[in-house]
Amino acid sequence: LWGRGVAPSAELDAELDSLARRTDAYLIRLGRATEERADRVYLETRLLIVGGTLLIAGFVLVILLRLRRSADIVRQTELQAESNRRIRALIEHAPDVVVLLDRTTQRFTYASPSVTRILGYEPEELAAVEIAAILHPDDLRAAARAYGRVQETGTGGVAVTCRIRHADGSWRHFEMSLSSPQQDEGLDGVVINARDVSDRIELQRSLSHQANHDPLTGLANRAAFVELVHAGLTTPLAPGGPSVIFVDLDGFKEINDSLGHAVGDEVLMTVAARLVTLTRHRDHVARLGGDEFAILIDEDDAAALADRLVGIIGQPIELATGPVQVGASVGVARAEDAPTVEDLLRCADVAMYDAKARGKNRVSYFEPQMHQAVVDRLAMRSALDEALERDEFRLVYQPEIDLRDGRLLGYEALIRWHRIDGTVVPPFEFIPAAEASGQIIGIGRWVLRAALCQLSRWHAEFDAPSLTMAVNVSARQLEDDDFVRIVAEEVERSGVPARCLTLELTETTLIRDVALATQRLGELHDLGVLIAIDDYGAGHASIGYLREFPVDIVKIDGSFVQALDDRPAEAEAYLRSITDLARALSIETIAEGIEHPHQLERLRALECRVGQGYHLARPLEVEAARAFLAARSALIS
Ligand code: C2E
Ligand code: MG
Ligand code: MG
Repeated sequence: LWGRGVAPSAELDAELDSLARRTDAYLIRLGRATEERADRVYLETRLLIVGGTLLIAGFVLVILLRLRRSADIVRQTELQAESNRRIRALIEHAPDVVVLLDRTTQRFTYASPSVTRILGYEPEELAAVEIAAILHPDDLRAAARAYGRVQETGTGGVAVTCRIRHADGSWRHFEMSLSSPQQDEGLDGVVINARDVSDRIELQRSLSHQANHDPLTGLANRAAFVELVHAGLTTPLAPGGPSVIFVDLDGFKEINDSLGHAVGDEVLMTVAARLVTLTRHRDHVARLGGDEFAILIDEDDAAALADRLVGIIGQPIELATGPVQVGASVGVARAEDAPTVEDLLRCADVAMYDAKARGKNRVSYFEPQMHQAVVDRLAMRSALDEALERDEFRLVYQPEIDLRDGRLLGYEALIRWHRIDGTVVPPFEFIPAAEASGQIIGIGRWVLRAALCQLSRWHAEFDAPSLTMAVNVSARQLEDDDFVRIVAEEVERSGVPARCLTLELTETTLIRDVALATQRLGELHDLGVLIAIDDYGAGHASIGYLREFPVDIVKIDGSFVQALDDRPAEAEAYLRSITDLARALSIETIAEGIEHPHQLERLRALECRVGQGYHLARPLEVEAARAFLAARSALIS
């Protein structure tokens, strides 16, 4: 403005002023704008920084999250693998075999590895094999039924026990549980869990065998036999129903006692084997205990078998120590004899008992009246035991008189049983029972002791050293292995001389076992005791025996003496032949049963030296016998 020579003026001033103001304004505006821009840039930068930071953080987060997920996955996979390993190990070592079968073809589609350990097959070996190929033929039906049931019911578990063939060819018992999981795609088919239970079944079998069998012979035992009879009665195989045969061995106890239990066992096993060979497969043989056997058999065949039994059991049994022999008492009862098992067995037992009582080694068929007889016998048996315990036996003494001069030579001791109710039982009412039961051995010893004791007292009291005592001896006593020793002991105990004791034995006793009797009589004779044959002529009256046995006295049976009344000529002929023979053999004769004086006369005429009978003296109670002796002691030297 100066350049242009514009004079300062108010106008100029104003102009300048305005310019200044505008410049200021501009500068202010510029400053403001710059300021604003700076602010904005600052803001933008901050925003950028915050945004970047956030972004980075987000990235980091995402990465972290990703990392974590993959770690989880790795861990899960590891866990899965571990669990798979565990399951595999479990399946491999499981007591069960797990298999999968095709629903329709029943072929294996899977077999767990444990099949190798348990059944010996590799799982691949079984692939596409039909299960029936390794099942026991007898179990196929049961298995098929179980298979059908599981198909019907769907998933439900069905159990069945079958035998499966091991790779080594043996049969093993398996308890199988079948199921058919329809839903599970991975398990399409029938799943079978099979567990080997062979050991358990073996154990069960052996336990039930032990419970039902006699360990020695392997035969059924009593409990099993009762079951068999029960089955036989409820579902009889033959029209007549079953019969039961009881077999009790005779003479077994003696073998067992004298030769030992090992020999006894061998005898029992041999008898068991013989019974088994005699019977058929459908019959049942059992050992009821001790030496008692039983057979369950169709009625039609029972009689034939029972008859053969006695013969076959009686054949000698060859043992290392030599042959032994037992007999058999056999009792047979039919189903019609008894409606129940218990009754049928009892009837067979009763029949067997009857066979024993009738002399052993024979067969008895049950008859109703046997029952009472057995009941009576059993009652008698226990009564006799009590009698001995309670000292109910007494002896009476019947004099033996010298017919020439009436001297008292001795007494025969005769037993009486004074029962607690006051009755006196004569010997014929209880001696046979005591013989059958063997109790005669104990009773006989008591008689021997009591008689010898009495004799020894009389010897001492009356100075009658030659007074004799006769004692009756049963067959059972003579057969007892201890008999000779018992006689020796009792003679010794009493202190009387052996020759003052006479043992009376009947012919029947002697001929039961001639060899044994000969031996025993020899031994008794050696002791010094006298032997008399009692009731001579009542039985076989074989003259031969008088020579065979060491006999000192023959007691002529009372029936010959009585016959002197009815048939005198015949009786006399007999009596004469006996006395003549006896004299020739230096055997003393005693006539029994002299009841009348004329009998005495006849006997004197026949030179029978000694007599006994009611006419001379009845059997006397001990006091009466003492008085009888006292009155005659002067005559005894
Ligand atoms: P036994 O040995 O022949 O005895 C004679 C039996 O005839 C006695 O009978 C006796 O009483 C009887 N008697 C005696 N005189 C006469 C007579 O004139 N007429 C008749 N009718 N009988 C007479 P008891 O005492 O009843 O004995 C019977 C049988 O019993 C005995 O026959 C004997 O075999 C047996 N017995 C007796 N005591 C014993 C014993 O202690 N042990 C054994 N094992 N048997 C005995
Ligand atoms: Mg006698
Ligand atoms: Mg007699």
